[in-house]
Amino acid sequence: MQYNSGAQLDPSQMGGGGGGGRIAVGGGVGLIVVLLALFLGIDPGVILGGAQQGQQPSGRGSAPNPYAHCTSGASIEQDRNCRFVAYTNSVQGYWSQAMGQNYQRATTKTFDSQISTGCGTATSQVGPFYCPNDMTVYLDPTFFDQMLKGELGAQGGDAAEAYVIAHEYGHHVQNLTGVMEKVQSQGRQTGQNSAGVALELQADCYAGVWLKHATDDPHSVITSITQDDLNRAIDAAVSVGDDRIQRKSGGGVNPDAWTHGSSAQRKKWTATGFSTGDPQRCNTFGSGA
Ligand SMILES: [Zn+2]
Repeated sequence: MQYNSGAQLDPSQMGGGGGGGRIAVGGGVGLIVVLLALFLGIDPGVILGGAQQGQQPSGRGSAPNPYAHCTSGASIEQDRNCRFVAYTNSVQGYWSQAMGQNYQRATTKTFDSQISTGCGTATSQVGPFYCPNDMTVYLDPTFFDQMLKGELGAQGGDAAEAYVIAHEYGHHVQNLTGVMEKVQSQGRQTGQNSAGVALELQADCYAGVWLKHATDDPHSVITSITQDDLNRAIDAAVSVGDDRIQRKSGGGVNPDAWTHGSSAQRKKWTATGFSTGDPQRCNTFGSGA
């Protein structure tokens, strides 16, 4: 993934917080098991037991923006952390163009160890997630090296990271379109052909759609998406397939327990999004995903 050093970045789409470090990050199988339930999920507070509707994250709006210095593509060369601004700006740039006035801007917040969110207190163990209550994507950046490349064995790279962020913004789009509420109102659903899995696969498909359009805007900070980038994004999607994680955690493969879909399903829908470039084609519901 290449960046235009002269392109502007908008750090106002970012936030930071947390980092108390009181809760240690676990390792090994325990971490995998937690991720099995929650990885790339939505609203972990429901499962963590810390959720209170309407709860305001502590210190919200008062903490300094740790990305304020990320003002151009050149900033990424000086501070690699600025790449998160690039991913966020590019993904939101696409969706605001595609959805027009129906799009509302979300925020990406990074944290260290744990953070208080509109969906309850989350730790790094839950992996990146989207909280609909405060329309924020949360992630601990150590996830990419420790989990995605480490435990999950993905190739990694910027396109793989951007895919993860774009998947979470896919949930934001689902929040705006109402499909998220529709699915969640039916309760927690698992299984290969469940609405819960269809929701996740649609977020994968939306990530693929964004990747296709990431370079459309001539002012975009992302200037090229190569075949290698696409391969890395799809490799990341495959790495987080439920069947693969079940195997890695030492158990058998049980499709009834799937929450996000198999590696094959996730590959299929990420690729569908990229090949069509059309969010209307992300009809993962009732299509025999
Ligand atoms: Zn998800």
